[in-house]
Amino acid sequence: MIRHVKTARLTQGDKTDPTVTKTVEDLLVQVAEGGDEAIRELSIRFDGLDRDNYRLTAAEIATCVNGLTKQERHDIDFAQEQIRNFAQAQRDTMLDLEVETLPGVILGHKHVPIQNVGCYVPGGKYPLLASAHMTVLTAKVAGCQRVITCAPPFKGKIADKIVAAQALAGADEIYCLGGVQAIAAMGYGTEMIDPVDMLAGPGNAYVAEAKRLLFGKVGIDLFAGPTETLVIADDTVDGEICATDLLGQAEHGINSPVVLITNSEKLAKDTLAEIERLLAILPTAEIARKAWEDYGEIILCETLEEMVGEGDRVASEHVQVMTVDPDYFLNNMTNYGALFLGARTNVAFGDKVIGTNHTLPTLKAARYTGGLWVGKFLKTCTYQKVMTDTASASIGAYASRLSHMEGFVGHAEQANIRVRRFGKRNVAY
Ligand code: NAD
Repeated sequence: MIRHVKTARLTQGDKTDPTVTKTVEDLLVQVAEGGDEAIRELSIRFDGLDRDNYRLTAAEIATCVNGLTKQERHDIDFAQEQIRNFAQAQRDTMLDLEVETLPGVILGHKHVPIQNVGCYVPGGKYPLLASAHMTVLTAKVAGCQRVITCAPPFKGKIADKIVAAQALAGADEIYCLGGVQAIAAMGYGTEMIDPVDMLAGPGNAYVAEAKRLLFGKVGIDLFAGPTETLVIADDTVDGEICATDLLGQAEHGINSPVVLITNSEKLAKDTLAEIERLLAILPTAEIARKAWEDYGEIILCETLEEMVGEGDRVASEHVQVMTVDPDYFLNNMTNYGALFLGARTNVAFGDKVIGTNHTLPTLKAARYTGGLWVGKFLKTCTYQKVMTDTASASIGAYASRLSHMEGFVGHAEQANIRVRRFGKRNVAY
C-alpha cells in the first residue's frame, strides 16, 4: 500500500503557469518587434544592466579568465575535462551507418552537427557556471560551428566566473543577457546577434517557457526548467543524508519539488525531523523551507515494485537512489532525468563535476526525453544510393504501384521513368 507521510501543498503538474506564458509571449513580441532597443530596455528592467552592446569584448573576457584564482582555474579545468571526456565517449558511440538492404540498394545515416547553437547559462539567483560547461563543451564536442552564450549579470554586474567558464569551454561569442530577452535575441536574431538554429541550456520558468514558445522557429534541447529532486531510500541510510540531499536541491528555488520515496516508516520520520533541524542552520533556508513546505513530499511504499511505480509517476529530473540494491532501480525505472546510484554519489557531484550532463528534463518531460547530451546537437540525416540498373527498376516498380494506390500520378511517373530507362520495360499495374 502507498501512503503519504507528507503531501505537497502545491503541485507543479506538467504545465507552465499560464501567467508565466502570457508574460513570456508579450516579451517575445517586444523583442521580435523592437530588436536591440527592446533588449536594452528589458535588461535594464529585469537585470539592472545598461550597455550599448551586450556582447562582451575580448578584453572583458580576458579580465574574467585572469581574475580566477589558481584553485578556481584548476577546479573549472578539472570539471570541464570530466564533462568533455564523457561527452566525447558518448560521441564515439554515435556511429554513422551504411548498409546494403537489398542487392544494389545502399541506405545510410550521418550525424551532422547543428551549425549555430545558442547556450543559456542561468544566473539570476546563483551564478551557475556549471551550466556553461554542460552546454558549450557538449556542443563543441558534437562539432557545432558557432556556439554562443548568454548569461544574465549577477547582482547588476557581469557574472565573471560564468564568463570565465564560458570562455574556457570555447564559446565563440559571449553576451551578458538574461531571461526571455536572451532567449529571444538568440532565437530571432537582432542587429547585435545573428540568430541561432538551436537553443540549449536550463533556466527558470521564464527561460524554459521562452524556449518552448520558440520551438519550431529554432530547435531546443529539452524542457529544462526549475530543478526537481527525488530521493529513493531504504533503512540502509539515515534521515540526515536523505534530508541533506533533499534540501541541497530545494535551495534552487521556492518552486523546486523535492520528494522522498521510502519503504521505511522510521526513515520517513527521521528525515522529517532532520529537515527541521537542518532548516534551522542552512544559510539558504528561506528558499529551501518554502520549496519543502509547498512542494515537499514523503511517500511510504511497501514493495520495491511500488517504489519503482511511484518513482516513474513522479518522473523527476534527479533521482538519488540509496537502497540495498540501487541497480534494481537502474534496471527497472523508466522515467528519470539522471540516476545517482548509491550513497557514495549524489546530485551535487552530477551538477558540478563528475561528467554527466546536468541539463535535465523537468515537469515530467522525463517521460519522453533524457537530458542534454552530445546527440542533441547532432542531426541524424539519412541518404540512399541505388547502385545497379536492376535494383533501380525493381524498386521503381514497387514505388510506381504504391504511388498509384495513393493517387500520386507524379510520384508514379518519377518511378516509371526509371523502370523504363534502367529496366528497359514499362510497369505492369
Ligand atoms: P535564470 O538565469 O534562469 O533567470 C534569470 C532571468 O529571469 C533574469 O535575467 C530575468 O530576465 C528573468 N526574470 C526574472 N523575473 C522575471 C519576471 N518576473 N518576468 C520576466 N522575466 C523575469 O536564473 P534563476 O532565476 O536563478 O533560475 C535558474 C533556474 O535554473 C532555477 O530554477 C534552477 O532550478 C534551474 N536549473 C535547471 C536545471 C535543469 O537541468 N533543469 C539545471 C540547472 C538549473
